[in-house]
Amino acid sequence: MKAEIVAVGTELLMGETQDTNSSWLGTRLPELGLELEWVTIVGDDLGRLTEALDRAWRRSAVIITIGGLGPTLDDMTRDAIAKMLGERMTVSPELKTWLEESFSRRNIRPMPQSNLRQARVIPSSTSILNAMGTAPSWWIERDGKILVTLPGPPRELANMWTTEIAPRLKERIPGQAIVSRTFKTIGLSEAALDELIRHVYDIPGMDLGVYTKPDGIHVRAIAKAPEEAEAVKVLEHAEAEIRAALGEYIWGTGEEVPPEKVGELLRERSYTLAVLESCTGGMLGAAITDVPGSSDYFVGGAIAYSNEVKLMAGVPAEVMDGSGVVSAETAQAMAEAARTTYGTDCGIGVTGVAGPGDSGGIKAGTVFIGVAVPGSSAAEQYSFPSRRPLVRGRAVTAALLQLTRALQQGQGHSP
Ligand code: AMP
Ligand code: MG
Repeated sequence: MKAEIVAVGTELLMGETQDTNSSWLGTRLPELGLELEWVTIVGDDLGRLTEALDRAWRRSAVIITIGGLGPTLDDMTRDAIAKMLGERMTVSPELKTWLEESFSRRNIRPMPQSNLRQARVIPSSTSILNAMGTAPSWWIERDGKILVTLPGPPRELANMWTTEIAPRLKERIPGQAIVSRTFKTIGLSEAALDELIRHVYDIPGMDLGVYTKPDGIHVRAIAKAPEEAEAVKVLEHAEAEIRAALGEYIWGTGEEVPPEKVGELLRERSYTLAVLESCTGGMLGAAITDVPGSSDYFVGGAIAYSNEVKLMAGVPAEVMDGSGVVSAETAQAMAEAARTTYGTDCGIGVTGVAGPGDSGGIKAGTVFIGVAVPGSSAAEQYSFPSRRPLVRGRAVTAALLQLTRALQQGQGHSP
């Protein structure tokens, strides 16, 4: 079933408030079998709001409005709905009493007149009381459509959705099971990846989403079927195809994150870790220490950005002079220096050109990562998309995954 969100508020258009409510709802609609096809953001203007609602009413089966339910004159979602449906608003005596009571409970007497705006109803609306605020929601069923108004404040919206709206929608929407799985990859470009999984798009009942994230490219496979067992079957089929096509590039699924994986492996082996990071400027240490309890295995390291600091941290001048600062040899020497200088079992060294411009004849996005584990050390070269935030984010993930592999194989990895 097609769903549409109409988010109301001039502050959303001005960029003062981010429309986080739509994203929040967007993640929750699929489990109800609702396909979100449109999100419209519209300012506090009766004409444009009515126009947006009218369009939503014509093209979508379920319409969810967000915000514009406040007591002030600029909140006119109710007014626009009444206008769009050609219905007359009246003040509901029950809502008026409920509002007055909630004000007197908070020792505000008399209730401000403007709050009466929130007690208005139309013939086809059913009111749902808001346990966290003064704005009741309207639930409207007419002409085979459902329209719901949600309050703007995120806490109120989430509570209203979970306790009242989602259960009601569930009852009315014909069964459709949706299951999904996310595959996290690194090492392929978006285009190359997309080509490798082209055929998966053709599996009936399968939807694929390809998203670029700081820790690589994620492929989200979404399977839909009338029954859950069927949807699971479609997803399993797709997973087999995706794994066959992307195999070695997949480093994890679902909620897995590399720093936790690294932590687990180090803890199991009672190993400690230190880092020397240049182009990631501390992001690697930040990612590692994001994991609670990381002090069990992580000792620290240095942001060895300049050659001087690399020298101070124990990277031999001969290696940097001989092979260049951005090289496999230096990365490996950094990993070994991290281990020796800080007295740990394992070390990571990261050196590269974060971009956006090339540097010293080396292409932006080129990163060398060295990993030292007991008994061996090695370095690998990577070419990331040359946008600076991506280079740095990907380098952190690659470094953690390289250490993961080295630990799992009980040795370093050859370039
Ligand atoms: P309103 O019901 O329009 O008066 O909105 C009340 C408050 O909710 C606003 O001041 C915003 O801070 C917040 N809000 C409204 N719409 C959204 C939205 N789509 N996403 C996040 N916050 C919102
Ligand atoms: Mg508003």
